[in-house]
Amino acid sequence: MKQDYYEILGVSKSASQSEIKKAYRKKALEYHPDKNPGDAKAEEMFKKAAEAYEVLSDPDKRAKYDQFGHAAFEGGGFGGGGMNMEDIFSQFGDIFGSAFGGGFGGFGGFGGGQRRVKGSNLRIRVKLTLDEVANGVEKKVKVKRKVQAEGVTYKTCPTCNGSGQVTKIANTILGRMQTSTTCSTCGGTGQIIDKRPSGADAQGLKMVEETVSIKIPPGVEEGMQLKVSGKGNEAPGNGIPGDLLVAIETEEHRTLKREGDNLHYDLYISFSEAVLGSSKEIDTVGGKVRIKLESGIQSGKILRLRGKGIQSLNGYGSGDLLVHVNVWTPKELTREQREFFERMQSDENFVPKPEKTDKSFFEKVKDMFS
Ligand SMILES: [Zn+2]
Repeated sequence: MKQDYYEILGVSKSASQSEIKKAYRKKALEYHPDKNPGDAKAEEMFKKAAEAYEVLSDPDKRAKYDQFGHAAFEGGGFGGGGMNMEDIFSQFGDIFGSAFGGGFGGFGGFGGGQRRVKGSNLRIRVKLTLDEVANGVEKKVKVKRKVQAEGVTYKTCPTCNGSGQVTKIANTILGRMQTSTTCSTCGGTGQIIDKRPSGADAQGLKMVEETVSIKIPPGVEEGMQLKVSGKGNEAPGNGIPGDLLVAIETEEHRTLKREGDNLHYDLYISFSEAVLGSSKEIDTVGGKVRIKLESGIQSGKILRLRGKGIQSLNGYGSGDLLVHVNVWTPKELTREQREFFERMQSDENFVPKPEKTDKSFFEKVKDMFS
């Protein structure tokens, strides 16, 4: 059972953004790795607080969390779980302010060694059809990424002797001041390249084209971003690879319009089909489906096909397909037809008699959103 995000930060459910930020800063400083070296429990708390803050500091995510709890972020890989230390520092580093000397650099000491460099992230776009959005899809994409070239050897950095830090002592009016900065020769890794094969760049990396498989959960929306961890550029030495960030684009469907997890379809039927009843083929995300229209169906009726919409991103079932019935009124008539309808003008059967069950347009709209 995951702990409640509000509980982790020690704030109430109605806490303001500034209260949340303040609470997170307090927790983050308390469990900061620099203050608790080698303490796995503190590291765990530090990560938990960052995860809680990531969700609660974002109004959209907070609203989702308030509504669905942790389930809102399961399965999709959006926000929530699984933050690593690099993520936390790159996202929320500014919140620590000057409390830890070098800010970011303060992280260098974590883990008792040199700084681990992270490879850069790569970004791609993936275009999805409505069918793919509805059911989820696995996409294979070709990505050009930098990977460590084989045969690269490393040696200890002569500038910092492998410590990754350069210490300078300066005489000032306040006395002798000692400052540590990240070694610029090795970028803080403590190692530099000794030998590299031809084809490898100065960092010992080479460009390759790889096919990456991306699992896209159902229910994603235009503009969302998915992360494939570790599929960005690799870093030299013992560095960690960057991530592949996948921006979601969606194609418009020919006949189906999306609204949240629901889909809308405009069905046009003839006047005689409305009078006599009919069976019509309509589009759904799973292919064509035949539906029956009873005789005497009214224009404006909305038929709800339960579960024929989009699978919900948070895993709570599927939306519906709403079929809007539009009766097509003929614009041109033969003389015979005109005579027929003229006769019908005074016919009792043609006088509108809305029943209680024939909901008004406004009631139908209200039903759709309830
Ligand atoms: Zn160095």
